Amino acid sequence: MRHDHITSARQLTREDIEAVLDRAAEIAAAPDAVADRHAGALLGLLFFEPSTRTKMSFSAAIKRLGGDVVDMGPVESSSVKKGESLADTVRVVEGYADALVLRHPSEGAATMASEYVDVPLINAGDGAGQHPTQTLLDLFTIRENAGLDDVSIGIMGDLKYGRTVHSLAHALTNFEVTQHFISPESLKLPRKVRYDLHQAGSTVKEHTGLESTLPSLDVLYVTRIQRERFPDETEYRKVAGQYQIDAATLADAREALTVLHPLPRVDEIAYDVDATAHASYFRQAHNGVPVRMALLDLLLGGER
Ligand code: ASP
Repeated sequence: MRHDHITSARQLTREDIEAVLDRAAEIAAAPDAVADRHAGALLGLLFFEPSTRTKMSFSAAIKRLGGDVVDMGPVESSSVKKGESLADTVRVVEGYADALVLRHPSEGAATMASEYVDVPLINAGDGAGQHPTQTLLDLFTIRENAGLDDVSIGIMGDLKYGRTVHSLAHALTNFEVTQHFISPESLKLPRKVRYDLHQAGSTVKEHTGLESTLPSLDVLYVTRIQRERFPDETEYRKVAGQYQIDAATLADAREALTVLHPLPRVDEIAYDVDATAHASYFRQAHNGVPVRMALLDLLLGGER
């Protein structure tokens, strides 16, 4: 891979994506072969927002490659509380680590921070912007279940604030995919993302309901309404609880439909879906480890 920093899925070509997914498949099949591959490597974790999967799977990934983490820990106990700027924080921490993983509530934070450091910086979510490594594990799971060409993918929920949606939508333009976007009017895909998809020549369809689209889908990617991004709680309440699915909803779906969700789920997917053959969201979360191992391996480099 020729990138130093991974800040947006927009920068990823089909070749880049396939390199990561192929490497992830190799690693998943034979994890012991890479157990010491990056012995001594340190990954700097800078999480300015809550995280379970991204932070823990990056930790697991570097440790399974023989390395370790240096973790800033909670913002409350860091020098950020004393007024340190993000630019200063990353310049300091790059001296402690071989690569940095940054999650921040401000859109554009990772791109800005990446301009201050020489070690690879990975965007682990910047506000309502991008979340490119989530996309890589989403693509890995889609490829496992449905393949990545000639597929119909429905993306449902909070398309406005959902950063995993923006990244996935951009990355899917590299493949022969029909993208169906299903959301309330107020949470439609941002104009700039829609514009990029049209520029890339992607087939894009927008809907306010799932019913008519569901039978044609190979994959349904459900997302949480991003409550923390709403400027106004009353606006959140207007859309909360809409766009939920349960096992009965899926009666009209293809037998092979794969249901994904970046997690955490709140109430978008009823628990009765978990027992169906459609449910692939836990597997998707687990795929975060081999996919992040592959990405770190490619970014940290070294002889193989
Ligand atoms: N975990 C994902 C993210 O950080 C999805 C979500 O929070 O809804 O963007």
